Amino acid sequence: MSTRSAKARLTAAHASEMFSEAAQTMWVEFNAWYKVHPEATFDEMESYLGERGRGLLGMALELILRQGDLGATPRGRRCEQCGQEMIFKGYPEKAVHGLRVDTEIPRAYYVCPRCEAGFFPLDRRLRLRRDGWSEGLVRVVAWLGTTQPSFRIAAETVNRLVGIWMSRTTLWRCHGEVAGEIEQRLAEEERELTDWGTGAEEEKEHVTAQAPVAEHGSVSIDGSMIRIEGEGYREVKMVSVSEVEKGVKPEAVGEEGIAEGQESLKLTHHSYRAVLGGKATFEPGLRAELVRRRVGDVATITTVNDGADWIWDLAQRYLPGKRVEVLDWSHAVQNLAKAGAAAWGEGAEEAQAWLAQRKTELWAGQVADVLVALQQLPRRRQERGKAIRQVQEYVVHHGGRMKYGRFRAEGRPIGSGTVESGAKNVVQWRMRRGGQRWSSDGAERMLAALGEVHSGRWEVACQDRAQAA
Ligand SMILES: [Zn+2]
Repeated sequence: MSTRSAKARLTAAHASEMFSEAAQTMWVEFNAWYKVHPEATFDEMESYLGERGRGLLGMALELILRQGDLGATPRGRRCEQCGQEMIFKGYPEKAVHGLRVDTEIPRAYYVCPRCEAGFFPLDRRLRLRRDGWSEGLVRVVAWLGTTQPSFRIAAETVNRLVGIWMSRTTLWRCHGEVAGEIEQRLAEEERELTDWGTGAEEEKEHVTAQAPVAEHGSVSIDGSMIRIEGEGYREVKMVSVSEVEKGVKPEAVGEEGIAEGQESLKLTHHSYRAVLGGKATFEPGLRAELVRRRVGDVATITTVNDGADWIWDLAQRYLPGKRVEVLDWSHAVQNLAKAGAAAWGEGAEEAQAWLAQRKTELWAGQVADVLVALQQLPRRRQERGKAIRQVQEYVVHHGGRMKYGRFRAEGRPIGSGTVESGAKNVVQWRMRRGGQRWSSDGAERMLAALGEVHSGRWEVACQDRAQAA
């Protein structure tokens, strides 16, 4: 047994003396430093103390532990693998970097003579990781990796705020570990839901409620593309669920300048689930997210989406029958603008005047009037006629989803400012920055983490992680 091990454990008096000595040493050094820097600013003083403070606090933590058993058991210990009596091998030290503390902890080490398994009982009690980072630090690092624009910037943020140096690669690895567990848990919940029947009550047994929607739920389904290494662009599909609240402060007026009618609506309590893959891959995630928010139990449901058929197909299959389908206002207007541009040319004055009139009609929900106006558009060339016909078909196809007058009267969101674009706000800003490329595993993990962060569920996700440890 090394001489170290004899010194590893301390009496309370000795530990107290050692800490006082360390604090006193820091105090003396701080005084000496201040004599040399009498003009030091607050920031300079804090910077000096901060570096040493991590060590001094680490010492307090270490000394508290050294007054105890450090994981050594008086009666020996049996191997968990094979049951053999293990051999005590001393107290090797482990350096640990936490959010506020740097420390070195000696802890009892046992080795099994039969199967050679090694064991540190204290590591398990303290929930120490194999690497030198604390669980708390790793969770913060994973959160930064999700909420900062890139892993490199996240690493820099750790260095600046926590005061320790962590490489981009280490940060990426820590993020992958936490986000991977979050992804796995979501996927497990979703798989379980798929394996079970479709009964509403059964579903609720398998998926924990997360911020259930109270009165009026708004559900939007959205798509995006991200770049996957070696594969090019791949689809990301996502659902966002929000609570529609009335009489809250006015929304910012949308770019159309026409969203005033929605001024008393506010969408709150957003949640998101984004999945890498096509429609079929996305379906379990969509379904589970709707159950998490208990959308099936809500009195009023509005679903606001663009014109893509796959979206409306999913809405019909997974949203309750009482849902009201709304074509996103800005998408409707954009399509009408195409007809005007086909008739008179892009940016023509006539086209703009024509569009303004159609918007007024549409705002009131007068879809028939819009169709008449489309019919009367000048069609000077064949391809223009074709473009106009496409818009007509679009209006006929989505006519029931364009009754904006009624929707507004019922206090439903119609898009354009009130409905957030989940794809942009949750996925693209982080995953399509400056030609970023992802592995498909990395993308799946990041999508899960982004969804949980933007749904305000990060803490819950990490609590589960701590309990699982
Ligand atoms: Zn063994």
